[in-house]
Amino acid sequence: MRHVAVVGSGPAGFYTAEALTKAYGDAVGIDILDRLPVPYGLIRFGVAPDHQSIKAVARRYEKVALTPGVRFLGNVHLGADVSIEELLHYYDAVVLATGAPHDRRLGIPGDDLPGVVGSAAFVGWYNGHPDFADLSPPLDQPAAAVIGNGNVALDVARILSKTPAEFAGSDIVAHAFEALAHSAIRDITILGRRGPHQIAMTPKELGELGHLEAAAPSVSPDDFPPAGTDAALEPGQRKSVEHLRAFAAAPPAGDRPKTIHFDFFARPLAIEGDGRAERLIVERTALGPDGQARGTGETYAVPAQLVVSCIGYSSPPIPGVPYDERLGRFPNAHGQIADRLYAVGWARRGPTGTIGTNRPDGYEVAEAIAAAFPPGSAPSGRDGAAGLDRLLASRGCDPVPFADWQRIEAAEVAAARAGFTREKLVRVPDMLRTSGH
Ligand code: NAP
Repeated sequence: MRHVAVVGSGPAGFYTAEALTKAYGDAVGIDILDRLPVPYGLIRFGVAPDHQSIKAVARRYEKVALTPGVRFLGNVHLGADVSIEELLHYYDAVVLATGAPHDRRLGIPGDDLPGVVGSAAFVGWYNGHPDFADLSPPLDQPAAAVIGNGNVALDVARILSKTPAEFAGSDIVAHAFEALAHSAIRDITILGRRGPHQIAMTPKELGELGHLEAAAPSVSPDDFPPAGTDAALEPGQRKSVEHLRAFAAAPPAGDRPKTIHFDFFARPLAIEGDGRAERLIVERTALGPDGQARGTGETYAVPAQLVVSCIGYSSPPIPGVPYDERLGRFPNAHGQIADRLYAVGWARRGPTGTIGTNRPDGYEVAEAIAAAFPPGSAPSGRDGAAGLDRLLASRGCDPVPFADWQRIEAAEVAAARAGFTREKLVRVPDMLRTSGH
């Protein structure tokens, strides 16, 4: 019998567990730990609530969680309830699937003013992440700025633009739904420090902005390079740029009261305001020969009482695990950090790629574990689950098992408002206490 601990129950953690069950059959015990009481990480707290087809992959992870030998243990915090040394003592291998939950800081004057939030916090707020339930972003003023030209910036701009009716079929959390329904925001400016050819937005997600009930995208035709140069782009990127060109060519929005302005070649220099964000000071840029943005010295102000920076994420360090400050993640070779210690997903690669990118990632690390501990080879005599259970009990840590999550999920689905998929329980521990966990 082999024992593997997977820390983190998002996509990377579940694909790794799935691959391990395939490699070892019933000769492996896999414990999937999460510091939150509920599973699925980025699927529950990162993927936009109106992208339910992406969230449906959770059904696949559920099958893994219900596989004999696999356990989910929510409410177990690596670094607080158990250390990495202790996990390595009890398990043959430990896989960090802890993601990249921290926002990269803008690092400009004023980035700590009230009204400036990172995308992890803002996305966590509208997705019911318990850490961000009290964020209360300012939606009572007319202008918002979204910094970054990736898919997260698109998610944020779209969620800020949608009417209540457009959230039908979503699982947006009640506190965000109510706040957004009363939002005064009319102008949303998406700032990119480079140009239309350099966006990191995928075509499907960008195209959605063209079909909003109450908001219209606005792009300046002057920001594009000559049309002939699009041919050199990779097909997906070319499709995205086609969307932008269509937005630029579209007639004025008419009766749609909100506008999503694309401001390209725009680098934020500072955020200013009297005790809270009121405007962004932006420098016009041009592309240098290396394709990177160079400041031109020309500056201007963009009004914004809410500023959401969507410029990427980092993985927090874990005591006892080597950490690369510059990259904001764990240094590794093909997923291996040290003897018997591995990383998958964003903790391994950094915050890029789709949910599906984590699948080959998890399978590769599972293969490396199976190569180090071939199925059928002599057991190492480690205690696995039994050892962890004893340790956690001695510390008064009470893990939430998958069966409890299933009760939580059933309660969420039963509580859903008409037309919504579920009513997310944000304070899950309260619910568990009242139901006798
Ligand atoms: P991303 O794709 O890496 O985009 C980050 C953006 O921030 C880039 O445009 C980057 O510009 C810009 N940026 C970085 N530092 C900056 C700074 N200091 N000042 C101004 N701009 C700055 O990251 P993301 O949007 O957070 O997405 C993370 C991953 O999740 C991506 O792979 C994304 O595709 C994926 N995702 C997918 C979906 C979906 O499929 N529906 C939804 C959400 C996220 P430069 O290019 O100039 O560096």
